[in-house]
Amino acid sequence: MARKATAQKTRAAKSAGGVPADLRARNPLITPRAAKLLHDMKEHPDAPKWNYTCGDRITREDCEAVAAFRAELFSAREPRKPGAPPLEIVRRIAAQAPHSEWLRKRIGAGVDLVRDWDALPCMTREDFSRDMGYVMPDGCDLDNMYVYDTSGTTGHVLFVPNSPRAVSSYLPLLEFAMARHGVRVKFSEEKAGCILVCAQAHTIAYASVHAVWNNSGYAKVNLKPSEWPKADSAKRYFKDFNPPVLCGDPVAFVELMRQGIPAKPKALLSTALALAPEVRKRLEKHFKCPVIDTYSLNETGLISYACPKGFHHVLPHDLHVETLGADGHAVKPGERGEIAVSGGRNPFVPLLRYRTGDWACLEYKPCACGDALPRLLDLEGRAPVLFRAADGSAVNNVDLSRVLRKYPVVQFRFEQKKDGACALQVRPIPDSPSGWTERAKRELAELFGGQPVNVRIDEQLGARAKGGKVVPYVSAYTLEK
Ligand SMILES: [Zn+2]
Repeated sequence: MARKATAQKTRAAKSAGGVPADLRARNPLITPRAAKLLHDMKEHPDAPKWNYTCGDRITREDCEAVAAFRAELFSAREPRKPGAPPLEIVRRIAAQAPHSEWLRKRIGAGVDLVRDWDALPCMTREDFSRDMGYVMPDGCDLDNMYVYDTSGTTGHVLFVPNSPRAVSSYLPLLEFAMARHGVRVKFSEEKAGCILVCAQAHTIAYASVHAVWNNSGYAKVNLKPSEWPKADSAKRYFKDFNPPVLCGDPVAFVELMRQGIPAKPKALLSTALALAPEVRKRLEKHFKCPVIDTYSLNETGLISYACPKGFHHVLPHDLHVETLGADGHAVKPGERGEIAVSGGRNPFVPLLRYRTGDWACLEYKPCACGDALPRLLDLEGRAPVLFRAADGSAVNNVDLSRVLRKYPVVQFRFEQKKDGACALQVRPIPDSPSGWTERAKRELAELFGGQPVNVRIDEQLGARAKGGKVVPYVSAYTLEK
């Protein structure tokens, strides 16, 4: 009934080009052919239950700006040095500084952004959650603003404003990551270009088109069976639209594989959760295409991608990445620090040394893959957690990750109690050969100096958590003690 009423309404509001006016408002550059494709994607008998409507809101001017960004991204890959950002980024921050109250108040008079870079203050998640208006430049054009809410690892909701142009700049960044893996996609206004796959208890689902990707079709779908009309609907939907690009997190990709959905993508772009090498290999074998890990936050956009050699390189050329110590100063080369980012292209959020809460070691030396931008080694999606071996010596969660990434683990939670007892809960890759848990147990006990580790398989790990996220490391010990 609802669909019928909507159809009547949109017919009545048709504009001259044969595209309904409300659709044209959401997707200003949509063509009649793309509108037909979008209609087919939405009204397909096996389409999932859509619960949201949105478009890219991209204008001709935006499209040109994104094309210029793409050209720069592919050509401006100069090596970086520790210290202040490249001049282009410094100039942009200097131009923003008089307009944002946060920047105005924190960057004192007489400060030289290049000379005094390491003494500059850092933005934190708290700055954003307390009052985003304090960070946003004065006189922003709010008419064209998207607002994302993001829960992060703390569960505290953050509202992040962004612009259509900056949101669509995400697509050339994905193109670049794919190109480094030898994948080039020709997008067409008559075909689906990308599906964002989720496997969550609740999430939004919608279909749209991307002007920046030649008006090809896009959908965000939830693989949860109750979200589809019939048992095999998801299989038929993916078979019929077969997008060349699939985005999602490792849990969703493993679920795609487990449900036997006949997707034939050219690349899988993984985000949000850490992608273990074993999971990547398994997915690559199954989907017969590169599975590319990316690191991205709603506050900052994409930060890095994994190259064919398996290293996370800084991805956007207009982003400056540093690793900081607790005192807010850059750590020495080769040391681990908290990842902080400056610059980017979100017109509402001028990032200055924004502390991400994630940790890595920055490597400036050239990589065998040929990308000159620095690499984030041992990237960990949260601050280091301290564990103790049987003799009281520290065990780093990075070492624990190194052990666990050898095994077919989709998600895990490792916890150490005050009495030293260790327990590992694991969501394995479905149908993975058994016997590995004993090997993992032995290796973990060795890492913990003989302290036994209880390993428990939990197929539903993460399924009950909001957004499917599981805190991987929990310890009764803290770094301070
Ligand atoms: Zn590389």
